[in-house]
Amino acid sequence: MLDAMMRARVGDDVLGDDPTVNALQERCAALFGKEVACFMPSATMANLASVRAQTEPGDEIVLHAEAHIYYYETGGFAGVCGCAPRFVMGERGLFDVEELERVVRGRDDHFARTRLVAIENTHNRGGGAVWPSEQLARVAGRAKEMGLRTHMDGARLWNAHVACGAPLATLCEPFDTVQACFSKGLGCPAGAIVAGDRETIARVRRFRKMFGGAMRQSGILAAAAMFALDHHLERLRDDHRRARRLAELLARSGVVEIDPALVETNLVYFRLPEGMNAAAFCRRMDESGVRMLDESATTVRAVTHLHVDDGMIEEAAERIVAALGSPSV
Ligand SMILES: *Cc1c(COP(=O)(O)O)cnc(C)c1O
Repeated sequence: MLDAMMRARVGDDVLGDDPTVNALQERCAALFGKEVACFMPSATMANLASVRAQTEPGDEIVLHAEAHIYYYETGGFAGVCGCAPRFVMGERGLFDVEELERVVRGRDDHFARTRLVAIENTHNRGGGAVWPSEQLARVAGRAKEMGLRTHMDGARLWNAHVACGAPLATLCEPFDTVQACFSKGLGCPAGAIVAGDRETIARVRRFRKMFGGAMRQSGILAAAAMFALDHHLERLRDDHRRARRLAELLARSGVVEIDPALVETNLVYFRLPEGMNAAAFCRRMDESGVRMLDESATTVRAVTHLHVDDGMIEEAAERIVAALGSPSV
């Protein structure tokens, strides 16, 4: 990847003439079945520019209460876009049309104008859950009937695609805008993409500039993304297999609470035994070479990625179980 970055042909993407960025944008637009795409420094900015491009201050956006856009993006949808959140609920970050219909209010001068529905696929806090493609189409289709714009936060769309087998364009079809991240499972140092119709992406591009996200010789980053699409996409199924294996080993040990059947992609969430603090546990595991995140006071998130091989999964499970005081896996 570093070689590909160093060999990249570059221009000035603020002026729109970086050949590698342009090639990446065209490639992603084609992959997603959209007219055009815009390269972004990060998935956070990709979401932010997508929301800003399709709303006005005072508008309401519909999203899951556990959505990344709400939970982990410093309230940018409110602070920068001026939008109010309207929450849908549902198991593992998913919901259906009835839930959408429950929260979308009609037009009334008392109400904020409901403008956009955002769906996250795979859903991070939902345990890396994959939206079935029919359900995506159903919910986004109903949103469209209600006159709403639709955005997919597909930071891990690549994982969803590999896990469910549906073509990327099929998963993206029901949405006005889709963002996907290169710096998660695909292993790039930075970068994300937003795809959609020409008019909407022109607005996304304008807000990217406003947010300070227009870069110049960003072909070096686009080259990393091109390399990742060539070499790191199909191998995501190895990450998924290893995540499931880790979940099975942990479940078998009986020391943590986890259902391996719910591990569909590369995220492994588990609950610690009663009275154990997740932050302290993760600090201790860090010292023993297994780096994980405490996701709440009692739950931990492990992620498989391209630097983790089969042997390391067995080793990680052993160390986790040992730290929890069980004799063996
Ligand atoms: C990580 C993530 C983002 C933001 O990505 P950054 O690279 O941190 O900006 C957005 N949405 C989801 C679902 C994510 O997991």
